[in-house]
Amino acid sequence: MAISELKLAKELIRRHSVTPKDAGTINILAKNLRSLGFKCHLLNFKNIKNLYAKLGESSPNFCYAGHTDVVPPGNINDWSVNPFKPTVKNNRLIGRGANDMKASIACFIAAVSRFKNKNKKFKGSISLLINGDEEGIEINGTKKVVEYLKKKREKINFCIVGEPTNPNKLGEMIKIGRRGSMTGRLKIIGAQGHVAYPHRANNPSDTIVKILKKIKELKLDNGTKDFQPSNLEITKINIDNQADNVIPGSAEAVFNIRFNNKHSSSSLKRKLNTIFKSISKKTKCKFKINYEVSGEAFLTKPNKTTFMIQNAIKKITKIKPKLSTTGGTSDARFIRKISPCLEFGLVGKTMHKIDESVPLSDLKKLSTIYLNILENYFD
Ligand SMILES: [Zn+2]
Repeated sequence: MAISELKLAKELIRRHSVTPKDAGTINILAKNLRSLGFKCHLLNFKNIKNLYAKLGESSPNFCYAGHTDVVPPGNINDWSVNPFKPTVKNNRLIGRGANDMKASIACFIAAVSRFKNKNKKFKGSISLLINGDEEGIEINGTKKVVEYLKKKREKINFCIVGEPTNPNKLGEMIKIGRRGSMTGRLKIIGAQGHVAYPHRANNPSDTIVKILKKIKELKLDNGTKDFQPSNLEITKINIDNQADNVIPGSAEAVFNIRFNNKHSSSSLKRKLNTIFKSISKKTKCKFKINYEVSGEAFLTKPNKTTFMIQNAIKKITKIKPKLSTTGGTSDARFIRKISPCLEFGLVGKTMHKIDESVPLSDLKKLSTIYLNILENYFD
């Protein structure tokens, strides 16, 4: 008997696994996967439940990665149905996680069950890396599981991350990489004083304006064949000053850079720090800078598996998916450290929104696409 993607998706959506809560979702997956012959390793890091499950021992190992946690539903009264009572209306399944990404996980497990029915013995192994911390702070989820797999010398030969990647229609887009993201918090320290006696003060606002102008005008690059140009955006400027006749003592700004693989966070830090140093030296101010790097840029160079997956998607959807690097960060940024990976899942239009939903026809198609991928990969 094959596992039904719709039934399993509903079972998962019924659980209130609002990040970081697991609410039994990992156990539901483990139960289903064990029935297919998977060995399940429940990996709990602090309060986060994760799962690495594997069918077969031999190589190559094809992995599917996803998360069972979801974002909060917002005001439940704004939904047309209860977000945790999955409902089919007008041939759409509605509920929190319907495309990000409980339904996608269900599609892959349904595909494996059909693959197993047709191929009692296959050479290789299939694995799932499921985490419960993707929508949260991402400390005890995929990052820790990847460290664990590295330590165990577990080899993954290719990984598909099932996040919603299609903007409008199933089949439009595969993601093969992502830009990096870094936030900088800059503080300029001058000397406070009376507005009428500027020679006795040193206004940090002049310095911060000069610096922000300079970094905004930096031409980081023109983009590459695979990536759009890097961009820097100033997101906050703050001079907290109570009085109108006082030159402030300090000024602060925050900026975020989305960068392609022509840069690394450290090469950007060097470039920026040089500017901060030279301008503040001239103006006799001090500066403090703090960086937070949420991910480096990365790209999985398309290989024969990438093209095979592209063809499998085209066969089912009649659309040739674009290989893209757009969008925010995802767990692929951790997984790519141990395996080549790409991302393909459902349509992301309603993710994180009220009435998150997926057409039933997309569920069927995605499951068939995953089945096709498995059949071609182990052919
Ligand atoms: Zn997601």
